[in-house]
Amino acid sequence: MDKLPIDDETCVIVLTGAGVSAESGIQTFRDSGGLWEGHDVEAVATPEGFKKDPDLVWRFYSERRKQAGQALPNLAHLKLAELGDRLGPRFLLVTQNVDALHVRAGSKRVIEMHGNLYRTRCSRKKCKRDVTVDANVYETTPLCEKCGENLRPHIVWFGENLDPTHIERIERFMQYPRPTLFLAIGTSGSVYPAAGLVRLAKQHGITSYLINKDVAENEADFDVVLRGSACDVLSEVL
Ligand code: NAD
Ligand code: ZN
Repeated sequence: MDKLPIDDETCVIVLTGAGVSAESGIQTFRDSGGLWEGHDVEAVATPEGFKKDPDLVWRFYSERRKQAGQALPNLAHLKLAELGDRLGPRFLLVTQNVDALHVRAGSKRVIEMHGNLYRTRCSRKKCKRDVTVDANVYETTPLCEKCGENLRPHIVWFGENLDPTHIERIERFMQYPRPTLFLAIGTSGSVYPAAGLVRLAKQHGITSYLINKDVAENEADFDVVLRGSACDVLSEVL
């Protein structure tokens, strides 16, 4: 595989998915047949699921906290951190992963578009309680110190909106008048709006690359497809 055409002018925007953390031992959706670590996604990753059984949701995310805490960033995370250091403000990393492994690998310009496992907030929208850093594990649902409502993981669940400031930041980055590459890595292209970013890139005249082990659902939208594991391919092309 040829090296990616990245020179002193090029901007790079990266979108990562669960496949990037697979080689750190964290399961993707796909590998478990549409379940997340054996759980029905409706039950553990939707607002309705949380309303129905918040304790189950907290036990699930507590397990994810423990598991991701024991995992180590892999070569793909490290290569992307290195690229970010090299490019500085010409680099933006957008991740769907909530496991915080990009930040632990040293990446700085990271948008965690689906949230972060190690943050907790109040489930009441109008509550003034801040989002807090929280690595605790819970058997039962913790309650808000300010209003008494259930606390919840700071995760964007299915059916919830993304933080609009994240979308703005992505769009602003894509509008830079420079040669820009869009790189999607380890993502099945089935969860929107993330899966639509490749089309947005195209609208801005940006060349898009997909690095993925299996065929992605939005694969036809990409200019170049590099098949393989994230660690192997990134080691070759960066
Ligand atoms: P997905 O599970 O739908 O797809 C993963 C993709 O990665 C698959 O297409 C697979 O072929 C590919 N893949 C697997 N191993 C790979 C490897 N070693 N190298 C390259 N590619 C590999 O994941 P998604 O598209 O990210 O969507 C899943 C959703 O679930 C996201 O919204 C995310 O927030 C959440 N999730 C997060 C984590 C995490 O934080 N690590 C894990 C599971 C799910
Ligand atoms: Zn509250």
